[in-house]
Amino acid sequence: MEMMRAARLHEIGGAFQIDEVPLPVPGKHDVLVRVEACGIIPNLRNVVTSFPTWYPFLPLPELPAIFGLDAAGRIAAVGEGVNTFKPGERVYVNPGVGCGECRYCRQGEPTRCGDYTFMGYFGFGKNSTSIFRKYPYAGYGEYTVAPVANLVRLPENMPLEHGARLGYLGTAYSAIRKSGLRPGQAILILGATGTLGVGAVLLALAFGAGRVVAAGRDPAALERLVELDPQRVIPVCWGGRSIHEQVRERMGDGVDVMLDTLGAKASAELSVDAMQAVARGGRIVQIGGVAGPIPIDPHPFMCAQLQYIGSLWFTPAEADEMAAMLSSGVVDMSILEPRPYCLEDINEALRDIEACGNGFTNFHISY
Ligand SMILES: [Zn+2]
Repeated sequence: MEMMRAARLHEIGGAFQIDEVPLPVPGKHDVLVRVEACGIIPNLRNVVTSFPTWYPFLPLPELPAIFGLDAAGRIAAVGEGVNTFKPGERVYVNPGVGCGECRYCRQGEPTRCGDYTFMGYFGFGKNSTSIFRKYPYAGYGEYTVAPVANLVRLPENMPLEHGARLGYLGTAYSAIRKSGLRPGQAILILGATGTLGVGAVLLALAFGAGRVVAAGRDPAALERLVELDPQRVIPVCWGGRSIHEQVRERMGDGVDVMLDTLGAKASAELSVDAMQAVARGGRIVQIGGVAGPIPIDPHPFMCAQLQYIGSLWFTPAEADEMAAMLSSGVVDMSILEPRPYCLEDINEALRDIEACGNGFTNFHISY
């Protein structure tokens, strides 16, 4: 039997161990991908340590399990029912899988599926456990298996290591689409220098935003975002004066759209502050999962025609659109600094990203 190396979690809160496991065989409509890069994400330590306590309704794969979102690599083999994808093609594996049978899955909107599940991460429904059993592979193994519908062809001019960031970029992409941001409008990115935030700023510029208000804690990191487009990127540093006062000072009407990228460990007070910078008729999109609750007072919310939208991940079709933006150079990820780790150093990588991670560093496993 052919074997491969994989980093597996054996107990909640434990370290990853390098194990030899059998090389998977793709099913009829599946594809075997030789992983070349896989993202290290800031939230993974939370997932494998605290999620069973924080969110007991979100199932994790049965242990021992291979984790790892955002795998990119080359197709090694295809199932007998796969027609157009061929061995050797460079692909990103969108890890989100739905049940495939409900009306949302059949409409091409798997993120609305009640059993939506991230291979190698966690799921949302009671049937996620059976999806994990069907697809127990992910990016922290030398090979992974995914449904062919989850593959995204990557442009030749895009380094595969950038594929390790497509999950976070895609999350921002889908959120901006749902926000209905129009060219020339103003958008506020809360948490702009984080892993989600940097991608959101790149995309907001590519979408033609007139002004991109980058709100963050670190003035030096904000300055790097301003350098992307000094005419359009406006830095707002929190810590001293409130975010909304600083925004309103520069643009009295406020922003048309706000993306909240703050994570589970951030203070929701920042979100509440920033929301007051949103103009009448504006839209707030939640993509970071900041620990709420956030007070929404219905009457003023109605009078100002505000909308609060939750957005989860992105579809393979949205990833195709994003790949086209990367291919044409509309979005340029060269601002990211590569920080590769070998699979054996996965635990060190997770420690490092917690200790010194920022949105400009592309932490990834490189095979
Ligand atoms: Zn479904």
